[in-house]
Amino acid sequence: MVSADVYNNIEIVKYKIAKAAASIGRDSDQIKIIAATKGQPLEAMIQAVETGYIDGIGENRVQEARKKKEKWPKSPSTTWHMIGHLQRNKAKVAVQLFDVIQSIDSANLTDILEQRLVLLRKTMPVLIEVKISSEASKYGVEPDHARVLAEHILGLCPHLKLIGLMGIGPLTDEKKRIRSSFALLRRLKEELEEDLGVELPELSMGMSDDFEIAIAEGSTMVRLGRAIFGPRGN
Ligand SMILES: *Cc1c(COP(=O)(O)O)cnc(C)c1O
Repeated sequence: MVSADVYNNIEIVKYKIAKAAASIGRDSDQIKIIAATKGQPLEAMIQAVETGYIDGIGENRVQEARKKKEKWPKSPSTTWHMIGHLQRNKAKVAVQLFDVIQSIDSANLTDILEQRLVLLRKTMPVLIEVKISSEASKYGVEPDHARVLAEHILGLCPHLKLIGLMGIGPLTDEKKRIRSSFALLRRLKEELEEDLGVELPELSMGMSDDFEIAIAEGSTMVRLGRAIFGPRGN
């Protein structure tokens, strides 16, 4: 049952992404799907990756990700994204576990990650998490502070490769409000690129209820849980 559901859900998601992208003349190949897998069983996650449509797994907790990754089979392979708040005392494990960290929200955290990465002789692609709505998440930097953190990473953390920004849209049905939050993140990315002279290719925004709006505002990574796996806790 699980497999058929997950497969069908992903087909529907692919269709909706293609439609949202086409409506503003974007190529849907530019939009990556990250399966948000907190609380999901390994079998469903493997099924999702096996469709070939999933560009990565997004986990919220280091411990949960570690347990799942230990049991992950040789194939299909995938990339592991940290999308939840990363506590500083978990930074050491996180750099070994993840391929991408999307939830960078303090200079303190970047410094600890940088020190760990130096020891491992490894670089880590990261996104700065920006708070684009007051109620959806208590984490992320205020939009005004993104620039200082970006400069910090670019100037002082050579083992962190800043690839973009991540945000969580507001918990509301009002499409206008959702859209303006995503527009804020897009503009912020464009400003940083211009002011700091860097390319930030990734804009990680859009979840199950708002990914089509996010795509219309330029999202390159949608993080989908329920749209792929069904309601949580089943
Ligand atoms: C749970 C979660 C998602 C996915 O949420 P859905 O509404 O189930 O699609 C995306 N991003 C983050 C940071 C999450 O914690």
